[in-house]
Amino acid sequence: MAGGQKTDEALIIIDVQNDFCAGGALAAGGDNAFIDKINRLTETCDNIILTQDWHPAGHVSFAAAHAGKAAYDTVETAAGRQILWPTHCLAGTEGAAFHPALRQDKAALIIRKGTCRDYDALSAFCDTSGRPTGLAGFLRERGFEKLSFCGLMTDFCVSCSALDAVKAGFKARVALAACQAIDINGSYARALTIMRRNGVELGLLA
Ligand SMILES: [Zn+2]
Repeated sequence: MAGGQKTDEALIIIDVQNDFCAGGALAAGGDNAFIDKINRLTETCDNIILTQDWHPAGHVSFAAAHAGKAAYDTVETAAGRQILWPTHCLAGTEGAAFHPALRQDKAALIIRKGTCRDYDALSAFCDTSGRPTGLAGFLRERGFEKLSFCGLMTDFCVSCSALDAVKAGFKARVALAACQAIDINGSYARALTIMRRNGVELGLLA
């Protein structure tokens, strides 16, 4: 193992895709400086997992799929309340591709989520129907116990993934400096509070 790095630690990089980065269809706030911070994190960890939001046309999370609804409205679905987004991360499109500045060469696994039209998947672990992505099985089989999360968006997919990691019995840490939030109606502060309450360690510096 290069650099004597611990083999039970993995870095999970959430959704660093063109549509979520500055200039994209559903961009987080700020510029893309956080990507450099993620790349630096990849230098200190040999076990890298990437996730990719990957939706079919007409996905339940798209405002355009619901008559009379606009982006950031909510609707009730069989799986509970769903926040609606601009159309984003259509499977196979340039918007769904990883941002070109992101280092991908060390990634051992790419998890694609939100692939079922009727269910959204903020979490890297499962969709809103509870169907697992397989990530927890991969992590257990490889013996990873301590997980660090970074990427997009801090207050949605990153926080949901970190919370599900704790629920699944892993130690979870979020590298806040290597994340970007979208912060809708106080969602950022709320996500930090919920993560703290549920045992997610928050790293102020990457
Ligand atoms: Zn999505």
